Amino acid sequence: MSKGLDILIFGAHADDAEIGMAATIAKHVQAGYKVGICDLTEAELSSNGNVELRKQEADKASNVLGLEVRTNLGLPDRGLYMTPEHVAAVTSVIREYAPRVVFAPYWEDRHPDHVACSKLVEEAVFNAKLRNWMPDKPAVLVEDLYFYFINDWRTPDLIVDVSDHYEIKMKSLMCYESQFTPAKDGVATPLTQGYVERVKARDALLGQRKLIPYAEGFAVKTPYKVHLF
Ligand SMILES: [Zn+2]
Repeated sequence: MSKGLDILIFGAHADDAEIGMAATIAKHVQAGYKVGICDLTEAELSSNGNVELRKQEADKASNVLGLEVRTNLGLPDRGLYMTPEHVAAVTSVIREYAPRVVFAPYWEDRHPDHVACSKLVEEAVFNAKLRNWMPDKPAVLVEDLYFYFINDWRTPDLIVDVSDHYEIKMKSLMCYESQFTPAKDGVATPLTQGYVERVKARDALLGQRKLIPYAEGFAVKTPYKVHLF
């Protein structure tokens, strides 16, 4: 059976994809598209929670979103670098799931792992189409690569109207209790200090230019092709 996905999203840590584009995911899943997430690390250096708990939280969020697949490459947290091994690992996932569209974190972000993930995915999307590179797996031509916002953002190149799917986004983010909810014995981080409310405010602002309640924004490096009618 083909493992083909329509959309494959990469994040450095479980919760990255949800912060940036959970509602876009839900919208496309509900429209019948096959969507998957690949987290590059197990976030073993998180200040709050632990690997097992974060895995359980990611599973819960995946169910809320209706993902076809969620996989984790187990690369080292704070050890994501542009090495041939890391590019090959990401390329293998693209070759395995042959997505039409790939999403990566926006290339500027306060967290260096998000920046590294962005670059690794860009390299892997390029390599995935080279038939003589890793020739044991068939080459995959990804139609489009989009970048979603985690911490840093700017005026987007395109937005998706997610007003009808925003509640699902909130529900998926709430699955990451260890990250976003201040715990008595937990460490105060930027994530535990009103982070989800700020994401919600950002997505409301992103909708403002088109007068819609909520939008998720994306950046591109190559022109976005539209069908006018
Ligand atoms: Zn992250």
